Amino acid sequence: MTDLPVLTLKPDRSRAAERRHPWIFSRAVADQPAGLEAGDVVRVVRPDRTCVGVGHVEPMGSIRVRLLTFTDRPLDAAFWQERLATAVRLRERMGLIDGPETTACRLVHGEGDGLPGLIADWYDGHVVIEPHSTGMTRALPAVREALATVLGARLRGTHVSGTPTAESETGGCEVREFGLRFGVDWVRGQKTGFYVDQREHRRLVGSYAAGQRVLNAFSYSGGFSVHALAGGAAAVTDVDSSRQALAWANENVQRNGLDAARHRTVAADALRYLRETEETFDLVILDPPAFAKHLSARHAAIQAYRRVNAMALRHLVPGGLLFTFSCSQVVTPDLFRGAVLAAGIDEGRPVRILHQLHQPPDHPISLFHPEGEYLKGFALEVE
Ligand code: SAH
Repeated sequence: MTDLPVLTLKPDRSRAAERRHPWIFSRAVADQPAGLEAGDVVRVVRPDRTCVGVGHVEPMGSIRVRLLTFTDRPLDAAFWQERLATAVRLRERMGLIDGPETTACRLVHGEGDGLPGLIADWYDGHVVIEPHSTGMTRALPAVREALATVLGARLRGTHVSGTPTAESETGGCEVREFGLRFGVDWVRGQKTGFYVDQREHRRLVGSYAAGQRVLNAFSYSGGFSVHALAGGAAAVTDVDSSRQALAWANENVQRNGLDAARHRTVAADALRYLRETEETFDLVILDPPAFAKHLSARHAAIQAYRRVNAMALRHLVPGGLLFTFSCSQVVTPDLFRGAVLAAGIDEGRPVRILHQLHQPPDHPISLFHPEGEYLKGFALEVE
């Protein structure tokens, strides 16, 4: 392969890539050709010209190249088919593609599937793609073509999240999660339209919900609430700042024939709601958006987790349960646990861990790319 632009590393700066970490940082680069455009495919070489891998370049980025291969091979149709077929096979083994009970999962989890910059979710035959790099945006036609080949007749459509199609401003379908039904709107929804990563935790909440008065803070489209109501919850309150999300939550309750009288939605800032309400609950779910997107915000995020968890504890009856989550990648499971511990100390409440929770297997983490770990949580019992 001689046709690709070549980017040369400094001496001894190829070690991370040799250990299959797919990011080449700008500080490792000795030389790159002029005129590179964002998302160009480049070959990365050592000073002796031997090849480290091939990937997408971001000419000014601190992550300068996202490597898609650690060998000298072209990113041709065979490459995309191979990677996507491997990703699909893995989800098939998990029973997430063709099973009757669950028809939504993450099909491609970026680096965890050897495809840095590419997120794609499976919604009952629809694949909704969320490109996280210019290179992947430019590769969309190749990705779509390969998905069509790999999935064959099972593929009903490929979509890019947030992008209306020619036919309509909306785009969506209904999926099932452990037999429960949810609407997904990949045009107006957040991310790809649904938070598939909480699937197993929603079921867990359902299994504890019988007779409980539940607060679902940061509820989005009511995923936890539908599982709680189906599990026999006495009352469920959804709090979210997005009115659209709450409208979807109401629709999802109806879709499953659940008792709307036991479900209430509150459009509010969840922190403010927790500060001001005097109500108590038997079971509280806290699933906020990432409080820290960068390392620089980590300390503030930990303090925010501490505060919001302390507020949640205040509203739990003795013996109550708290399902608390963090999806901030820079807040490690240990740091999150520390924040929750601090909240317990602040409130003077003895707290026991019942379950340690983590992202599900359709969100695999490459051992060589620990940055792929982001979702963690605890199911806690509070005295
Ligand atoms: N638990 C949900 C996913 C939550 S995503 C599920 O299982 O599907 C985080 C949610 O927090 C989003 O719906 C977003 O609208 C909401 N949100 C963000 N900031 C908020 C705030 N300050 N107060 C209340 N909700 C907020």
